[in-house]
Amino acid sequence: MKALLKTQPVRGAELLDVPIPEIGPDDLLVKVQAAAICGTDNHIYDWTPWAQARLTLPMIFGHEFAGEVVEVGAAVKGWSVGDMVAAETHIPCLQCYQCRTGRQHTCEQMRIIGVHADGAFSEYARLPVSCAWKLAPGTSPELGAILEPVGVAANGLFKDRVDGRSVGVIGCGPIGVFCGQLALAAGARQLFMTDVNAYRLEMARRVVPQATVLNPLQDDVQGLVAEATHGRGLEVVVELSGSQAGTAQAFDLLAKGGRVSLVGLPSQPITLEMTNAIIYREAIVYGSTGRLMWDTWYQVDALLQAGAFDPLPVITHRFPLEEYAAALELTLSGEAGKVILKP
Ligand SMILES: [Zn+2]
Ligand SMILES: [Zn+2]
Repeated sequence: MKALLKTQPVRGAELLDVPIPEIGPDDLLVKVQAAAICGTDNHIYDWTPWAQARLTLPMIFGHEFAGEVVEVGAAVKGWSVGDMVAAETHIPCLQCYQCRTGRQHTCEQMRIIGVHADGAFSEYARLPVSCAWKLAPGTSPELGAILEPVGVAANGLFKDRVDGRSVGVIGCGPIGVFCGQLALAAGARQLFMTDVNAYRLEMARRVVPQATVLNPLQDDVQGLVAEATHGRGLEVVVELSGSQAGTAQAFDLLAKGGRVSLVGLPSQPITLEMTNAIIYREAIVYGSTGRLMWDTWYQVDALLQAGAFDPLPVITHRFPLEEYAAALELTLSGEAGKVILKP
């Protein structure tokens, strides 16, 4: 099969012919129909320190994918050839304290598909059945492929109630836009979204037209939020930028007693003026990573089944796997929403 591998510890990747993966008794073999590019894949392609610290080469990368089951492991129950499947990318050990207490997504021995185990920028992929989410027949593989990042947004947003609340989303990349859509789907009263990148601001305005989309370099975000909330501020803020300015603004916009979910990954330490940002404000701060297994998936599925939101407009480009270099350079440029590779 054709597969995109990271073979050398330098920038780039190679499309090679490799054997179709052999599956174990607890695995599914998936014919990959759509795979989405994630920031993680950009790190791997670009060979950043983040990737250097984690990957053992050679490695097939790519982890946000969906496709059709073409082989079922001997010990697997409840799955058949022909089922449509989307991948959860956490591979939990199912043995540790975290796994045994309902926190598989923070497993002490966590492995990630496409980082610690071969991924899905390939014609076929091996998927442990413990990471398999069954899709209704006829579900678009592109929708299946982006459920993983939609789940990242949902896990951050739904740490507590959203209904009737004033919500802010800092950072309008794909996960930020999903977050805005989910906030409205869950009954948010008002929605503010911010970014400094023109492409992303335009994407947020296009996909979430009900939101007030602002650029903090040009707009008086704090003044506008104060005006809209009778001076109280936002009850819920989700921080996805991972930046110093974005994180500080998340707290500046927050109402007293409000909550911030920190989802974006800072590349360096962040400084906060904690007295006013957190302590006097009695702010509630959540860290959020990945998705709850499988609470987040059921929650997102329920909203999709109800027609409460449609994440597909966040997909802006599609490429055959052979054009991986153009696709990865595009996502690295930041001038794209979700980009799909089709093996
Ligand atoms: Zn991802
Ligand atoms: Zn574990």
